[in-house]
Amino acid sequence: MYEYGSLIGGEWRDNAGTAFDTYNPASPGEQVGRYRTTPGDAINEAVTTAARGQSAWAAHPPAERARLVNQFLDAVERRTEAIAEAVTLEQGKPLAESRGEIGKSLREARFMAGEAVRAHSHVVPAQKADCRNMVLRRPRGVIAAITPWNFPVLTPMRKIAPALSHGNAIILKPSELTPAAACLIAEAGREVLPPGVLQIVQGAGDVGGTLVGAAGVQGVTFTGSVATGKSIYAAAAANLAELSLELGGKNAVVINDTDDLDRCLDQVVGAAFQCAGQRCTAISRVIVARDMERPVVDGLRRRAEAVVLGAGTDADTTMGPLVDGRQLETVAGFVERAVAEGATAVTGGDRTSVASHPQGHFYQPTILTGVTPRMEAAREEIFGPVLTVTAYDSFDEALEILNGVEYGLTSSLFSNDSALIQRFLDESENGMLHVNHGTIPDDHMPFGGIKSSGVGAYSVGPSAAQFYTTEHSAYVQHPGR
Ligand code: ADP
Repeated sequence: MYEYGSLIGGEWRDNAGTAFDTYNPASPGEQVGRYRTTPGDAINEAVTTAARGQSAWAAHPPAERARLVNQFLDAVERRTEAIAEAVTLEQGKPLAESRGEIGKSLREARFMAGEAVRAHSHVVPAQKADCRNMVLRRPRGVIAAITPWNFPVLTPMRKIAPALSHGNAIILKPSELTPAAACLIAEAGREVLPPGVLQIVQGAGDVGGTLVGAAGVQGVTFTGSVATGKSIYAAAAANLAELSLELGGKNAVVINDTDDLDRCLDQVVGAAFQCAGQRCTAISRVIVARDMERPVVDGLRRRAEAVVLGAGTDADTTMGPLVDGRQLETVAGFVERAVAEGATAVTGGDRTSVASHPQGHFYQPTILTGVTPRMEAAREEIFGPVLTVTAYDSFDEALEILNGVEYGLTSSLFSNDSALIQRFLDESENGMLHVNHGTIPDDHMPFGGIKSSGVGAYSVGPSAAQFYTTEHSAYVQHPGR
């Protein structure tokens, strides 16, 4: 059992606040954690403590900050097995995926530690004689971070590492469904970091709302749903805080032509069913040239039927349960309505159970065919193991379907036709563009979306500096002129 309260100024406050619990999605009767909601006055105290901690942290020379961040990352890495177990027990994904998530987080974070000592400021030619103009960047200050339940390590680390490397203090509110991993990460931080630069508050949306709107917060970074993103945007306006929002996706792969359909479909299915499809970058739509529809559907079906459902702690499992009963109902409702609208589930299409965990929130890997662009399942984010297939007759039509959704996160094209590739790079309305490449992002490339998928600077890689630092134009003229 994980038991944590709030981490404020380097100390855990275990007693204050009302209790809330987490449960294993593979065995919903099994309690995994008990946490304490952070009261409002403690949230304000965390902000004051962060402001103090940040001044001292920013005064460390950047190379020293980089050294300490790297030590913190080493301390996280040493806890890999314990953190992976916490992720699997609260979120449900297979242990191998949990370990993979931690590995990716550490690679991204180590790039970020290096950012502390890379050049972000620069000299610009001056208009006046004897003047030197510089564009300088400074730490932004106190960052509030709100993270979702699907990646309990990756999303917190994507915010903690750049915040610290760029000289900020960060207050993190992890998802109330999966707080254990963030608490273990914060424990690693306590070994190395000065108190007050990495703090944890606990609770649901009301705590998140209070944190985001607290006086003294200079930047708000959020990953989660569009509806919550809009409410956070409004709450952050109270302080005119800078914002970075990473929201949902309705990501598609366009399969026009390929020399290697197996390689293509392996990547599509991996992107669709990893984390049981509960990923903002999951591929959830296959848009396929009509003459390839048959082999594509056959290949997808075979792969979906090879998925081994089970508890994330079982070694054979390749796909775990959905995170909770509410998510299971949501996914089942989407599929029922799609079938009522005329789609066909060529495989899957229902809840299921596994013998060892009969009460788990399991849903079958599902391929829906005959999905038209107007159907709900083709437009809304399902966040479950469901792939829709829509056929097209011309590339114009493919682009129209690709772009005909409110989201704009990631997209992929499989084709050898250079003219179509150029059009895709110019016209796909998404933050991330992949050609003959699944949607897995590199560890140091900007990550983010356009349209309803995001607002503000992209996280990961060099773009994070735009959010985690402020910009200053400096003019230094020779005295006496
Ligand atoms: P989901 O609906 O999938 O749970 P959300 O976007 O609502 O996703 O939640 C993501 C994170 O945002 C969680 O940590 C949650 O507690 C937090 N949250 C939810 N509502 C609010 C809100 N109004 N203000 C701030 N944080 C919120």
